[in-house]
Amino acid sequence: MRLILLCCCFLLISSPVGAAVEIALRGQPAIIIEDVYRQQGVSYVAIEDLLDLAGLAGHWDSVAHTYRIRTSRGWVVLTPASGYMQVGDNFYPLQEKPVFIDGRLRVSENFIQAQLAQLAGRAVFFRHLNPQVPVVEEAERDGIDELFSRFFRRAERSSSSGPTIRAIAIDPAHGGLDTGVIAPDGYNEKLVTFEVADRLARLLRMRLGVPVYVSRSGDYDVTLDQRLEAALRDDVDLWILVHAQASFSSDVRGIDLLVRAQEESSGSSHGSLVLAQQLSQSMLASDLAVRGIFPSSRLSLGRGNLPTVQLEIGYLSNPDELRLLRQADYQTRLVQSVFEGIQNYISLSGETR
Ligand SMILES: [Zn+2]
Repeated sequence: MRLILLCCCFLLISSPVGAAVEIALRGQPAIIIEDVYRQQGVSYVAIEDLLDLAGLAGHWDSVAHTYRIRTSRGWVVLTPASGYMQVGDNFYPLQEKPVFIDGRLRVSENFIQAQLAQLAGRAVFFRHLNPQVPVVEEAERDGIDELFSRFFRRAERSSSSGPTIRAIAIDPAHGGLDTGVIAPDGYNEKLVTFEVADRLARLLRMRLGVPVYVSRSGDYDVTLDQRLEAALRDDVDLWILVHAQASFSSDVRGIDLLVRAQEESSGSSHGSLVLAQQLSQSMLASDLAVRGIFPSSRLSLGRGNLPTVQLEIGYLSNPDELRLLRQADYQTRLVQSVFEGIQNYISLSGETR
């Protein structure tokens, strides 16, 4: 089966046959682009076609070998085969690198939905028009499907006595070659997520006396399986994912709490939303800038009913927040408030159990 899929991949690499996409910016009529190439299950569209749509202008810099786009926030620079897009002094990771195919610099469908939307300052609607595409895509996106097939289940207890929370899993996002978002000074997401997760794990072990499983213990690459191992353990009753973000606007700052958009079998006294509410309250009580709780279909949250919150602990693109996130004092305050939120969640779910 795997061999057949691989053969299909070879046939489809850089195949322009019949591929077409429909794109619209919010408030504008949709356009159809037929100059679309497919590589490894992902559609690539020429950057120039997208800029026309967004009303932006760009040009190829033949000296620097980069593509420069003029925006209201300054120059945005794309480098062929580089995994980063530069906006002023900031670097943003791209899911797929821009590539030259058939004489034009092209970006992926993920760029259209994430970065183009930010460049244009508007939501972007995107879909494949070729009905064959989804079939191929499913076969090639094994890794993503695998994550969706995991059901993060809060295991049933054999007895109603004992602590409400038996163990906690923490995922410090990124690591190793995967830096996550990068601040102008080089500090990055993988470092801050690890520092915060490590502090949180120590505090929880010390104060709650329960096992805390952390998906990485240093700065190295973590496979999807390794990352999920902690959360999938039988005794885990709570899962915290730690991320940080970046925005094109240096004004944006604050903490986002993300929960699954749809949570199977959610109860009133427990579940991700209740956990997020407790965390948010304790953070606000500690004078932390909380932007809100948001339902999210982000892949990292998976599916299921294990109480899970993805903490987006701040914006590395905001100079003030970056300065705070690097401070030990601030990290301690943040972690202390997360601990208190978890503690309140435990007493709440214990009362009504
Ligand atoms: Zn992240």
